[in-house]
Amino acid sequence: LVNIDFKAAFRNTRSADLQPRAVRSVNEDDLRTAIHQGNISVVYQPKIECHGGKLTGFEALARWEHPEKGLIPPDLFIGMAEAQGLIDSLTILVFEQALPWFNQFLQQIAGYHNLPTSNDLHLSVNISARSLLNAELFEHIHELCSNNGLDSHQIMLELTETGAMDDPVASLDMLTRLRMRGFHLSIDDFGTGFSSMVQLVRMPFSEVKIDKSFVMTAHTSRESRLVIKAIIELAHSLGLQATAEGIEDMQTLQFLQELNCDHAQGYMLGRPAQGDTFIDWLQQRHQEIEKQRLQALKGS
Ligand code: C2E
Ligand code: MG
Ligand code: MG
Ligand code: MG
Repeated sequence: LVNIDFKAAFRNTRSADLQPRAVRSVNEDDLRTAIHQGNISVVYQPKIECHGGKLTGFEALARWEHPEKGLIPPDLFIGMAEAQGLIDSLTILVFEQALPWFNQFLQQIAGYHNLPTSNDLHLSVNISARSLLNAELFEHIHELCSNNGLDSHQIMLELTETGAMDDPVASLDMLTRLRMRGFHLSIDDFGTGFSSMVQLVRMPFSEVKIDKSFVMTAHTSRESRLVIKAIIELAHSLGLQATAEGIEDMQTLQFLQELNCDHAQGYMLGRPAQGDTFIDWLQQRHQEIEKQRLQALKGS
């Protein structure tokens, strides 16, 4: 069954992330300034194997650090960044922080053994569908990856609302080129909005992420359960991995395990938290495992 260990390790990461607070209106000028000054930070949410509970990667999530209003959630500024032509600068800021952190995490883990992690960990980053028309952006990202000692196959690009692509033909062309370069592609929030089955079949995705609106209602809604089951079957029949986001309780995790869902994310398994949290976790976990090993040696 699931590695409860992991759950316990991250249960207390809440304080590092968004606090429920009333965010008063934020405006474009504020956002422009914040991006120019680099006041965007990144938190990471672990991604776990549904069966076995191993860590398989992290998703990078942007936070706007407002001097007066505190941490502002992406739902309040990603749309604004897209509309103001700031989204590509924001994407670069996210990569500039997330890549060195991820490399540090991997370096640290390389010295440890027996940790509950998969051998090929990946970093997922959210990409706006609009950015697909900007070839230079991806040149830049590719360069940032190699400057940080990372290979493109360790990076998963998550795309939402691919139906909102301004130019589907050019976007498909870019997705194909990105995949050929090694990047993995994920279709985020699947089942809502404009993401459709046709795109799933046509585009070179590696992963389908089931939208959390279905996952969070799985225990009360038969409809949600049917949708989840259908998405997992569809993903598997196309040779793609299925990931469920928004898992908040054990019952939902068990339901997903029964359906052979591949990966899981959610507050129950780990909240988004600052990078240091996970580096510290690695150290602690390594020490615990060593201690147990020594005790076992003594005992025998
Ligand atoms: P997403 O990519 O679908 O990410 C999942 C969202 O669900 C995150 O919200 C995460 O914190 C939240 N979440 C995860 N597990 C649970 C759970 O168990 N319960 C609940 N209630 N929520 C959970 P967040 O960080 O507020 O991000 C919202 C959206 O903003 C993301 O949705 C993504 O579409 C967008 N976003 C975030 N960072 C970036 C970025 O750097 N670039 C772009 N283009 N979009 C971003
Ligand atoms: Mg995402
Ligand atoms: Mg998304
Ligand atoms: Mg989502």
